Amino acid sequence: MNVLVLNSGSSSMKFQLINSVDETSLITGLVQRIGLTGATIEWELADGREFEDSFDAKDHTAAIEKTFSSLIDSERGAVKDLKEVDAIGHRVVHGGEKFKDSVIITDEVLAEIKKCSALAPLHNPPNITGIEACTELLGPDVPQIAVFDTSFHAQMPEKAFLYALPRKFYEEDKVRRYGFHGTSHKYVARKAIEILGLDPKEAKIITCHLGNGGSISAVKGDHSVDTTMGLTPLEGIVMGTRSGDMDPAISVFLMKKHGYTAADIDKIYNKESGLLGLSGISSDMREIIAAAEKGDTIAQAAMDVFVYKIQKYIGSYLATLNGADAIIFTAGVGENSYPIRSKVCANLEGIGIEVDDALNKAASRKEMVFSKESSRIKVMVLPTNEELVIAQETAKLVK
Ligand code: ADP
Repeated sequence: MNVLVLNSGSSSMKFQLINSVDETSLITGLVQRIGLTGATIEWELADGREFEDSFDAKDHTAAIEKTFSSLIDSERGAVKDLKEVDAIGHRVVHGGEKFKDSVIITDEVLAEIKKCSALAPLHNPPNITGIEACTELLGPDVPQIAVFDTSFHAQMPEKAFLYALPRKFYEEDKVRRYGFHGTSHKYVARKAIEILGLDPKEAKIITCHLGNGGSISAVKGDHSVDTTMGLTPLEGIVMGTRSGDMDPAISVFLMKKHGYTAADIDKIYNKESGLLGLSGISSDMREIIAAAEKGDTIAQAAMDVFVYKIQKYIGSYLATLNGADAIIFTAGVGENSYPIRSKVCANLEGIGIEVDDALNKAASRKEMVFSKESSRIKVMVLPTNEELVIAQETAKLVK
């Protein structure tokens, strides 16, 4: 079965056509500047050929129309006919409390996803637009499936998801912790269980998804029991531009002191904080590391805060899980950055983490264990593949 995986953002859209049987990718691409002038589409075919076009993408429907025509382009496409697209799997960021698993999209499901937009006003609307554009262009006969970032965390116990606020905010407004990056945590945990031969129900795994956005999860077997992101993706570890955890009283303090509005605070915490805010250099870890290596002490401090917060969560999740079989590093920073993995794992012998420095150096971008034989907890790099999870879930539901 060929599954078209779509990940629609506000002005960009990633797509990939995956054969769910042999799990190969037939085409991978990205549309940028949707709704702006000078939109572009770039894609790569299975044989490695790469293409790029400029076009007029006034909205997501135009972007998806162009994606479809590129898919079936006689010279540069991946398939001959759109009939070869058997189903579409959509990444949907927020499934609220309603969606504990992936679902086939019906009118009722779409209405429920729209209700979840209140919880993710920046993320869910472009996902919904993507779904509606596919229905408009392909009609109702091609099945569409929603795979939620939140659903892998849906079994978190109440003690992990409740905030200590007046209970009415949970009951009436659904203010609670939901967690995100679920497809990535799920993929790497499952892969670790397979590679390390762990018990699929009882394995205790700490998954560190360290990208531009980042989160850590405590995974027991096939589900997450706690995770660092909360009501929104702002909570948790230090990210590219997001602050992660902090004293909530800082908002009131800054609003009073500087006359900031709620919108100002939202922008500061989400777009101007994290590595960017701490370093004043960049949100990109590569630039922070380069500056730190040249002796920039502010960049070094930014790295230290980033690393220390990850270590604190690893410690915390060892308590949550009562130990761990494995710790996994994934996403942009986790997969690629030997210095960060090395700092995170340093001086943790006391809790059973012993890393082989040469193996760690060699592990970037590979599926590889880099802990010592003697390490009680296995430590691995596992490149994530969220699109493959979406394709697998889609194929499972369509069947
Ligand atoms: P997103 O959250 O946007 O999906 P990614 O998982 O692609 O992010 O991760 C992007 C981040 O990965 C970049 O911001 C960059 O900081 C980091 N990164 C990529 N390559 C390296 C590298 N070699 N060393 C350190 N950081 C890297």
